[in-house]
Amino acid sequence: MSLSDETRRRFLHLAGSGTVVGLAGCLGGDGEQAETTTTATETTTEAEEEGDEHEEELPEGVSEEEFVSGPVPEEYRTALSQANERRNPDELFTKEATQFQEATDAVEAGLAQEGQNCGNCAEYIPDKNGDGFGACARVEGYIDPEDWCSLWESIEEAEAEQEEGEDGGGGGEAEYVL
Ligand code: SF4
Repeated sequence: MSLSDETRRRFLHLAGSGTVVGLAGCLGGDGEQAETTTTATETTTEAEEEGDEHEEELPEGVSEEEFVSGPVPEEYRTALSQANERRNPDELFTKEATQFQEATDAVEAGLAQEGQNCGNCAEYIPDKNGDGFGACARVEGYIDPEDWCSLWESIEEAEAEQEEGEDGGGGGEAEYVL
């Protein structure tokens, strides 16, 4: 990423457990929604105590709340994903509802298979403005291609479903079970 130092805002994830503290867009799936949100200061302290941390930078001028929940920049609002799924800003899942987290954590937790991440998901809308983050046709907020959620679907699978929809008249709209 190419953010200048003075505009960088950092906040931390606790690595390894799949549980995420902070608002980096990696909300854990432990059902404690209110408890997983904290301030950057608190997060830093906890992470430092753990001694096991990594950092994610927010795009310039984007608040933590915007990063997690949107709105995303206009160019993503109704964009097509890389498998041609149209993003509908009125019908998006929250990150928490989809166990959104870093892909490596999801693999360690046994939720994702090795290699699965947003960057190779059918629903991913790649970075359009050079900030390193994209968006998702199904999940709200900014999306790091190295993240993952339970809606992950391969591009090939989505395209095959679309072809079936076109051939069979089923409409091609996928159903998601969380
Ligand atoms: S894994 Fe796919 S559906 Fe889930 S947030 Fe990432 S791009 Fe969206």
